[in-house]
Amino acid sequence: MTPTQVTVLGSGFAGLETAFRLRARAKAEQVRITVVSETDDFLYRPETVRLPFGAAEAHLHVPLGGAFRRREIDAVIATVEGIELDRGQVHTSRGRVPYDRLVVATGAATRPEEIPGLAEYAHSIAAPAALHRLGEDLRWVAQNARHGRPQRVLFAVPPGNLCSPPLYEIALMFDTWLRRKQVRESVDIAFDTSEETLVAALGSKMRHLVTHEFEACGIDTRTSAALVEATEREAVFADGSVREFDVLAVFPPQVAAVGYAGLPLADREFLRCEPGTRAVLGRPEIYAPGDAGDFPLKLGLLALQQADAVAGAIAAQVRGTPAPEPAAPMVRYAVDMLDYAAFAQVPLAGGRPDEASGRSRVGAGLGWRVAARTAGILLAARFRRGLPFPAVLGHGVPERTHRMPVLRARH
Ligand SMILES: Cc1cc2nc3c(=O)[nH]c(=O)nc-3n(C[C@H](O)[C@H](O)[C@H](O)COP(=O)(O)OP(=O)(O)OC[C@H]3O[C@@H](n4cnc5c(N)ncnc54)[C@H](O)[C@@H]3O)c2cc1C
Repeated sequence: MTPTQVTVLGSGFAGLETAFRLRARAKAEQVRITVVSETDDFLYRPETVRLPFGAAEAHLHVPLGGAFRRREIDAVIATVEGIELDRGQVHTSRGRVPYDRLVVATGAATRPEEIPGLAEYAHSIAAPAALHRLGEDLRWVAQNARHGRPQRVLFAVPPGNLCSPPLYEIALMFDTWLRRKQVRESVDIAFDTSEETLVAALGSKMRHLVTHEFEACGIDTRTSAALVEATEREAVFADGSVREFDVLAVFPPQVAAVGYAGLPLADREFLRCEPGTRAVLGRPEIYAPGDAGDFPLKLGLLALQQADAVAGAIAAQVRGTPAPEPAAPMVRYAVDMLDYAAFAQVPLAGGRPDEASGRSRVGAGLGWRVAARTAGILLAARFRRGLPFPAVLGHGVPERTHRMPVLRARH
């Protein structure tokens, strides 16, 4: 029997989880897997929020060569340029790669140019290099504050961004970091978001918790505040209001990292997919798990869950068995505050927190910080060995492990 050729584009959360879970379910004689990606490592992005505060970066890059060899997965380090749908081929900077089944997991990119001045005057938090540059400026802020020069730092979630939680983390970490340096009182921190509610992706319980934290920290906050322009020292909003800043940090508007001509596109060029299976509409041989697809929230754990559904569907097709029912999407997110974390587990319906389900949970304390770091270490260790993330962790933790938040005092 000729093996089915499964070609996976991208080596992020979605691409690797699909490849490794599929290999765990189907031998090389059944499925030949090829991963095409620009990089030969996996970046564990959740921990990059600590880079501005002096954390090391090297261990966040997980090398993949050994994992691919061990699991008999072919790797092509190349840039994807397009898909020739009629021939079942992917065009890359290093030639063509064929497919019987195609998994498009090239993720999202940012497009700061959508908002005048953003590329020039704001720090993006989307990539490690930008986070290091933000760290440099935040160190200047602390230095100026120490010398009695008041400083203003503004965090803003503009329209078009679909992954706001990391910016909340950085704002809260910045507060903790300044307090440790005993210069917090000389720095005004503001957080303006275009979301209708604070940290909308994580549901009402996390919203209450973050609202309390922002109040306790003295972070001035506005919702439905749509940033429309940035100049060297001012952020201008849709309602005409203006905030002055010394440093502006944003997670810019997001778009698909690769635009695929000939495939159905949703808003911002994300691939239009069946909600549960992540099959591209009208193209049952192509899937788009993770940020590349049109799911309205862009988060790593959602990418893992979607990848598991894709791997399950492809394995079932190869075996000729019915596809397993995809698990209902569940957000799990730890908001890191440097010395402490708040954790939310929120079921989604239609891509939004399902408040009516009564199944949302939040917790807070040092234990959640440790748990989040442990999950990251576990994921990196599994990917390094070519293994998928344990499904039980990707899909939620038992309710009994949750406890209600214990909020910390701010000094
Ligand atoms: C600072 C920050 C912190 C975050 N923290 C969290 C968190 O704590 N929890 C959470 O759940 N989510 C978090 N996220 C979101 C999470 O990182 C993304 O949702 C996740 O990375 C999406 O996975 P993906 O595989 O779909 O895409 P990506 O991880 O972006 O992977 C895309 C892959 O495609 C490759 N690629 C792109 N274009 C091409 C091309 N043309 N040719 C070849 N290869 C290409 C890339 O190199 C990469 O390997 C965070 C994001 C940021 C920016």
